[in-house]
Amino acid sequence: MTTLRNLPSIDQILQTQMAAQLIARYGRPLTLSAIRSTLDDIRARFKSGQITALPLRDLILAQADATLIAWTKPTLVPVINASGVILHTNLGRAPLSDDTIRAMDVASRGYSNLEYDLEKGARGSRLIHAESVLQRLTGAEAAMVVNNNAAAVLLVLSALANKKRVIISRSQLVEIGGGFRIPDVMKQSGARLVEVGTTNKVHLRDYEEALLGANAIVMRAHPSNFKIIGFTEEPELKDVVSLAHAAGTTFVDDLGSGTFIDTAKYGLGHEPTVQESLAAGADIVCFSGDKLLGGPQAGIIIGKKELIEKIRKHPLARAVRADKTCLAGVTATLLHYLKDEAEREIPIWKMISLTPKQVKGRAEAWAANLGQGAVVEGESTVGGGSLPTESFPTFLLSLSVPSADKFMKKLREQNPPIIARTADNKVLLDPRTIQPEQEGALLVGLKNALRKT
Ligand SMILES: *Cc1c(COP(=O)(O)O)cnc(C)c1O
Repeated sequence: MTTLRNLPSIDQILQTQMAAQLIARYGRPLTLSAIRSTLDDIRARFKSGQITALPLRDLILAQADATLIAWTKPTLVPVINASGVILHTNLGRAPLSDDTIRAMDVASRGYSNLEYDLEKGARGSRLIHAESVLQRLTGAEAAMVVNNNAAAVLLVLSALANKKRVIISRSQLVEIGGGFRIPDVMKQSGARLVEVGTTNKVHLRDYEEALLGANAIVMRAHPSNFKIIGFTEEPELKDVVSLAHAAGTTFVDDLGSGTFIDTAKYGLGHEPTVQESLAAGADIVCFSGDKLLGGPQAGIIIGKKELIEKIRKHPLARAVRADKTCLAGVTATLLHYLKDEAEREIPIWKMISLTPKQVKGRAEAWAANLGQGAVVEGESTVGGGSLPTESFPTFLLSLSVPSADKFMKKLREQNPPIIARTADNKVLLDPRTIQPEQEGALLVGLKNALRKT
C-alpha cells in the first residue's frame, strides 16, 4: 500500500539535475521553500484522498518550478493600451520619450552629481537640476520638482498657508480621484479653508469680501476632471490675481495637468496652460509631470524666488522630494519643449496629433492582417484628469465576437495583456494609443484570442 513514507525526501529531490537547475535560477533558499511547499501540498492532498498515488521526483520538481515562477513573477507588467484613453491613470499615464528613458537609465546606472557641486567640490542641491530648463522655458524666477502634483499642492500650502485662510472658489473643491480631495489636502497643510461663491457662480466681489479678513492667500484648483455647464460664471484669472496682489497676498494656482501646448490646436477644448497662469500673475503654479506634460511622475512647482525658497526650506520638502531618475527624466522631457520638438518626440503628443486618416490606415492594416473586423468611426479621449468632456475623432477596429466580456478577458490574458473597450457587444480597439512598436505583439495577441473563440 502507498503511504506518505514513499514520498521522496528533500535530500533525494535535491540530488537531481533538475533541482540543481532550479537552484541556479532561483537560489537555494527559495528553491527549498518551493519544494517544501510542494511536498506539504502533496501530503495534504494525499491525506484528504484527493490523490491516491504519490508523484515521483520529476513531477514534484515540475510543481515546485511552477510555484517558483508564480512567486517570482513581477506584478507590474507592461500592457497594450487599446482603449483610446491617452493618459489612462490606471495604465500608468504617460509613456515616455526615448530621450527621457535614456536620461533615466543613465541616472540610475551609476553615481551622479545629484547633490554635489562639481565646481566647488562640495555638497550641492538636487533642486537645481530641472530648474534652469524650467526657468528658460517659462520665464519663472525659480522652480523645483517633487514626487507628484498632490505632494506639490500639500507642500506649497504647508509652507505658505499654514494657519492662514486659503480663499478658494466653491466650484473648485474637487476630488481628483482615488479619494484625493483638494479640501482635505488644504486641511492637512494646516490651512483654513474659506469657500467663496456658489457651485455654479463665483463673482469677483466674493473674493473681495473674503480678502477683507487678514492672513489669507488665494488659490485656484483647476477643476480638471469635470465640467460645470449652463448658468455659470467665474471671474478671469488675472482679475482674481490682481485682487490678491492688491490685498498684499499670494496667489497659488494648481493647474492639475498643466500644459505648454494649447490643446485647442488639435480640435480639443482649451486646457489652461502654464504660460497663461504666469501671464495672469500667479505667484506659484504647480502641475503634474505625467499628465499633459508627458513625462515621468512628478510635481512641478514654479514661481517667485522668495516663495520657492520658503517652500524648499519646509520639512515636508524632504519627505516629498523627487529621486534622481525622476529629475533626469523630467529635465529630458522639458528639453523637448525648449527645443520645440515636443509634438515630434513625446509619445502622448504624437498620439494627440495623429490625424483620423493616419489612425484609419492603421486600423485597416490590422483588419487586413487579421482577416476580420470592421473599421468604424469613434472617439479617443485625453483622460488623466484633463479635458473631461472632450473627445476627438478616431477610427476603431471593431470585432464581432460571441461575448464581448469573455473576449475582453481573453485579451487581458495575453502576454502582454491587451486592454480594449466594448460597445454593443463589440470589442473596440483604438490604434491611437498603441505605439507602432507594439503592433506586432498586438496582432499576435489578437490572433491568439480569436483562435480560442
Ligand atoms: C491630477 C491633479 C492633482 C494631482 O496630481 P498628481 O500628479 O496625480 O499627484 C492635483 N490637482 C489637480 C487639479 C489635478 O488635476
